[in-house]
Amino acid sequence: MAERTEPADWVRCAGCGALVYGKRWTRTLHVCPDCGHHGRLTAPERLEQLLDPGTAESIGPVPALHDPLGFVDSRPYAERLERARADTGLPEAVLCAAGTVEGQPCVAAVMDFRFLGGSLGCAVGALITHAARTSLERRVPLVLVPASGGARMQEGVLSLMQMAKTAQAMAELDEAGVLTVSIVTDPTYGGVAASFATLADVILAEPGARMGFAGPRVIEQTTGEKLPEGFQTAEFLLDHGMVDDVVPRVGLRPVLGRLLGLRAVTGPLPPGDGAAILRAADDLVGRDPWHSVRLARHPERPTTLDYVRRLVDDFQELHGDRLAEDCPAIVAGTGRLAGTPVVLIGHHKGGPDLGERRRRNFGMAQPSGYRKAARLMRLAAKLGLPVVTLIDTPGANPGPEAETGGQAAAIAENLRLMARLPVPIVAVLIGEGGSGGALALAVADRVLVCANGTYSVISPEGCAAILWKDPQAAPAAAASLRLHPGDLLSLGVVDGIVPEPPAGAHQDHAAAADLLEAAVTAALHELIPWDPDRLRADRRARFHRYGTDTGAAAADWSQP
Ligand SMILES: [Zn+2]
Repeated sequence: MAERTEPADWVRCAGCGALVYGKRWTRTLHVCPDCGHHGRLTAPERLEQLLDPGTAESIGPVPALHDPLGFVDSRPYAERLERARADTGLPEAVLCAAGTVEGQPCVAAVMDFRFLGGSLGCAVGALITHAARTSLERRVPLVLVPASGGARMQEGVLSLMQMAKTAQAMAELDEAGVLTVSIVTDPTYGGVAASFATLADVILAEPGARMGFAGPRVIEQTTGEKLPEGFQTAEFLLDHGMVDDVVPRVGLRPVLGRLLGLRAVTGPLPPGDGAAILRAADDLVGRDPWHSVRLARHPERPTTLDYVRRLVDDFQELHGDRLAEDCPAIVAGTGRLAGTPVVLIGHHKGGPDLGERRRRNFGMAQPSGYRKAARLMRLAAKLGLPVVTLIDTPGANPGPEAETGGQAAAIAENLRLMARLPVPIVAVLIGEGGSGGALALAVADRVLVCANGTYSVISPEGCAAILWKDPQAAPAAAASLRLHPGDLLSLGVVDGIVPEPPAGAHQDHAAAADLLEAAVTAALHELIPWDPDRLRADRRARFHRYGTDTGAAAADWSQP
């Protein structure tokens, strides 16, 4: 697969065989202009492409055993090692440097596949660990660029131990709240894939890059099975929830710059606009609840992604549950909302286009959607970023797949996780707040509802079918369920109402977004100065009081 340098500075693309002029090849970052194949980079080339010019500061070397077993196969390992050093000009299969990307400081550890197949031996483990420690000491993110065939057999079981050693280093960064990002390149297999490469907070992959523990040849030989097209490629991994995004090489620096720039804001902050959240529902009194239901479901109502486009700067969508799939009904990512870095998570119904609505399953999440949300909430907790959730779902998923995927447990896990999350959570019911599917994103410090939003234990149709034995009785059920914003406010289930443009949010997305931004900012600015203990105690009291008969009983439970 290696690109061959042809005479007269021509490079032959390993993807399509086209000849590309050397200077053009450099300009395209070694990506074929004809077929988009991402050519393999050496570690020095990768560092040069990733870091801001002139910022690389070499880190290492570190002491490590180089031939702990005195290993010999057809040739002594020591000789092979010398040969690899001479051929690559590198001391080992990883090169580490501190520097900046788009002005954001980081430590980078970049592997070089030319050096004994990027195999993970004692020295590689030591260097990765040293890079992680440097990142920890300096409190700057760690960027890993794996490229590896697996463990280094010639170093025996000590090479296996490098997986545990590097995983420990990653755990320390988790405990310290230091961001880690991995950029999976082709190929990333074995011990590297099963340790630091996949333990990063955010896993990006270059197009076509393959990653897995066992390689396809081993699997086919062992099982006799024919593997599907594209097995283990970046695109396959994205579909199966294993990576956050597939990013072409030319896009890596901007994406990294966004991620590395995520820093928690601490208070005190200027108070938001006090009038941005309505604490009384006078304007809504007497409104027909069925009218609210219909407006909440209006196909032209702004969706989560409509709000993201208007309100969130530098949004970086992150995908996948790291288990099985990426649920399109829940959108999640990082960005800055009115200047505040946040993790934003929302149900996404898909907007007016029916095809897109179907693809998004009308905003009804699979268990993988709740698990993606949970993963992102843990990331928010690690980095100290507030969580903003936008809720818009008819309800949990009535399909068999959701049940086999463990829907009930996935919802329950989110309720428990959110109850104890050490960062502020603001939830807004932007449309329909249907049942457990809505609550799975709504165990928040502040729960707001848009003036034409709803929140209900069951859809009015479902309730009518079960209790009235007549789906036509849905409007009556809507009235009895008290799912209308005014009722929600009087029940204390929401803290306030986000006003909408006079004719409804669907009539004026821009105005609706401005109103939402003002309300969320007011809530965030109030909560950001709170420490984790206060947030958790307050959240606990908030949810404990529901259905409690007396204020006194609630007060007994309000202290941790
Ligand atoms: Zn090509």
